[in-house]
Amino acid sequence: MKIALFGGTFDPVHRGHLAVARTAAEKFGLSLIYFAPADIPPHKQKRKLTDFQHRFAMLALATVDDKRFIPSLLDAHTGRPNYSIDSARRLKSSLKKSDKLYFLIGMDAFKDIATWRQSEELLQECEFIVARRPGHSLADVGRALPASLRPQEEILHALEKRRANGTVSLPGATIHLLDDVHERVSSTQIRAAARESVKQLSRLVPQPVAEYIKKEHLYVAGAPKTEAGGARRGNMLSLHRGISRSGKRE
Ligand code: ATP
Repeated sequence: MKIALFGGTFDPVHRGHLAVARTAAEKFGLSLIYFAPADIPPHKQKRKLTDFQHRFAMLALATVDDKRFIPSLLDAHTGRPNYSIDSARRLKSSLKKSDKLYFLIGMDAFKDIATWRQSEELLQECEFIVARRPGHSLADVGRALPASLRPQEEILHALEKRRANGTVSLPGATIHLLDDVHERVSSTQIRAAARESVKQLSRLVPQPVAEYIKKEHLYVAGAPKTEAGGARRGNMLSLHRGISRSGKRE
């Protein structure tokens, strides 16, 4: 079975993530895609993330209609930064020998791959599917690789004008490029639009996610995010799962 790991902050999950997953599943015959929100992303965030349980709840709502999409607790509450090499190896250890694991990622995240912990091992561990995002060329994929795997500058130069599609096979890395997704939406955009109506938000996220954002008063500037909804009405996720509102297990 072909399986993909799709990591991210998913704050919140949006139609772009779902389009990437759907397109990758169809193009590469993926049977399962694990959407694994990071509890503690290793690269320092400029802003405080929304509580893990909210991000996970939105993922569960967004993925309910597609049986290939699995909201995953792979990176939940490990107490350590979620390094992709650890997540990929942990997931792989639960798969069958005949299964093949892919790592699904957007180009904006892939461009920093050389700075990731054990990036060369990660590239060896699974084939990558890199989804294009506006403003990135095929050469950017090559340039992003760790120095030991990076093609020569003349080759990169020749790739500059090429469409970001196809497969780049190098000793130590196989990277498939996905140029068929044209959803320009980002989580940043949704956080900025949180005061819009459910109808407006539903253009960017599945409707149940838009309703959840409203119900829990997420992303509303000035509102204490972790208290929203939870304090007044009782946060169901927190109360029923033995997880405190600070995100720690009780
Ligand atoms: P933010 O706006 O907060 O930076 P984001 O929209 O990039 O968030 P993430 O949760 O950081 O969302 O993304 C998870 C993964 O999905 C990353 O690999 C990212 O590159 C990819 N991704 C997100 N949105 C898109 C999109 N519209 N098209 C292609 N890839 C995307």
